[in-house]
Amino acid sequence: MKAVIQAGGKGTRISSITGDNIPKPMLEISNYPILYHQIMNLKKSGIKDITIIVGHLGNIIQEYFEDGKKFGVNITYVVEDPNKPLGTAGALYYLKNKIDDDFIFLLADVFIDIDFKKMEYFHYKNDADVTLLTHPNSHPYDSDLVVSDKNNKVLKFDHKTNDRTKYNYHNLVNAGVMIFSKETLNYIQEEKKYSYEKDIIAPLIKNGKVFSYKSSEYAKDMGTPERYIMVQKDYDNGLIELKNLSRKQKCIFIDRDGTINKYVGFLRNESQMELIPGVSTAIKNINNSEYLCIVITNQPIIARGEVTVDQLDEIHKKMEKLLGNDGAYINDLYYCPHHPDRGYEGEVTELKVVCDCRKPSTGLIKKAVEDYNIDLSQSFMIGDSTLDIKLAENSGMKSILLLTGQAGGDGKYDVTPDYICDNLIDAVNVVLNNEKERILKK
Ligand SMILES: [Zn+2]
Repeated sequence: MKAVIQAGGKGTRISSITGDNIPKPMLEISNYPILYHQIMNLKKSGIKDITIIVGHLGNIIQEYFEDGKKFGVNITYVVEDPNKPLGTAGALYYLKNKIDDDFIFLLADVFIDIDFKKMEYFHYKNDADVTLLTHPNSHPYDSDLVVSDKNNKVLKFDHKTNDRTKYNYHNLVNAGVMIFSKETLNYIQEEKKYSYEKDIIAPLIKNGKVFSYKSSEYAKDMGTPERYIMVQKDYDNGLIELKNLSRKQKCIFIDRDGTINKYVGFLRNESQMELIPGVSTAIKNINNSEYLCIVITNQPIIARGEVTVDQLDEIHKKMEKLLGNDGAYINDLYYCPHHPDRGYEGEVTELKVVCDCRKPSTGLIKKAVEDYNIDLSQSFMIGDSTLDIKLAENSGMKSILLLTGQAGGDGKYDVTPDYICDNLIDAVNVVLNNEKERILKK
């Protein structure tokens, strides 16, 4: 697979750092331009044929990278006339006869460390025309959102100017890292301005060929001085490369009811979804650490026919929206819709089964391990019921019982948690501060 890097933009928002004489992709993180880091990331994934689209001050980029040989890659250039900018995708016109395979398309102002092999696998498995690397971020309320279905098919973009106070939404944003099929080039017919979002992706969404590849890997745009400073900090802490999914990940798994949201027994309506105070701060602390944050929850109300899958989705959108308003996000959520006992009115018979995913069975954890390459021996399960502690035991994780929600009072299993904490924020501090000698209360 080849890669095309769009490095032609002007980057006015960050000119206070770059000045007017350095193109934004040449901004340095630890003495090397962002573009250099991108190229090294591609090389690490075995991608060595790279085309860079340059425009404003493009000569500085060409002089630095030349033909790429000194960096162990092969670089060619498409040079845009700075007086006739072609938008985010117009320059692909010049590649129409040069690209004969699917290719990676990257925006040059995004700092990344991605396992492209994994993304490529997803792209081909779905037979996608476009695969977007997506992720939750800390400010979904003012971001353009990607709306996808349960099979990760992209349904539409939800533009940031829409009034989102009126509805709930998943926290999912396009990171600026894409794979395009060669057929997408058919949408570029003339030498003129094109937008990759409006002119390529939007028409392809209608054909059901655009997919969202949700990743927990590092991909942050450096469009503003604040974000630039944050990326430098993350780089210094080693956080960026740790998040590459070719490496084993550490994860803090958390339960939902009574752990994240106020315990109300069976939560059947999104209006009942209320966060426990302090939860957003706790999850934000996870987001800023090397740990992933994944929710694991039993939702037998689906099998009982009390709530539909769509209604449950609405509840989860509400949760993500509330967390997002506070700058916090979860990397993923897995739920069990099953229940073992048959014979109730209105039940969904096919879900009334003994499954391997209802906590404390480990099916959901196994799925997360597969999706995110998680090392369970370095991971934690946090929850308010003995089911959560038993789950940790069954999957070889450490456990923390919370005194929120049911506070272990469900009494289903006789278990001994590794820690007992007052609330989620306390529990996350235990993990992050590694307070091994914490005394068990209760
Ligand atoms: Zn299940």
